[in-house]
Amino acid sequence: MVENPIKIEEKLALTKYVTDKNFAHITINEEICKTKCKTYDCVYGCPAECYKLVEDGDVPVTFDYAPCVECGTCRLVCPHGSVDWHYPHGGFGVEFKMS
Ligand code: SF4
Ligand code: SF4
Repeated sequence: MVENPIKIEEKLALTKYVTDKNFAHITINEEICKTKCKTYDCVYGCPAECYKLVEDGDVPVTFDYAPCVECGTCRLVCPHGSVDWHYPHGGFGVEFKMS
């Protein structure tokens, strides 16, 4: 058994982000989310909570790319191809600390 495992929130707090306010490196097709999705896999799969479920909203999820750790999970788990995924431009995005 692993003692005192680090929590994901603590790990995420060690990362540094340089957000490109002029380029969203990931976007979702809200029309697809609205009309096709019933499972919202992105909400449950994203480790950084970039996707949030909206109760009674016109679109069922909100998305914020700023805290993205570029893991690619949302692209893989979305069953409807709604996620348009790119890496951020050079100099932007997440910077991991390895210690
Ligand atoms: S899983 Fe895909 S289709 Fe469903 S809400 Fe998330 S991005 Fe939209
Ligand atoms: S790439 Fe990973 S961290 Fe970024 S939005 Fe998708 S699931 Fe979340």
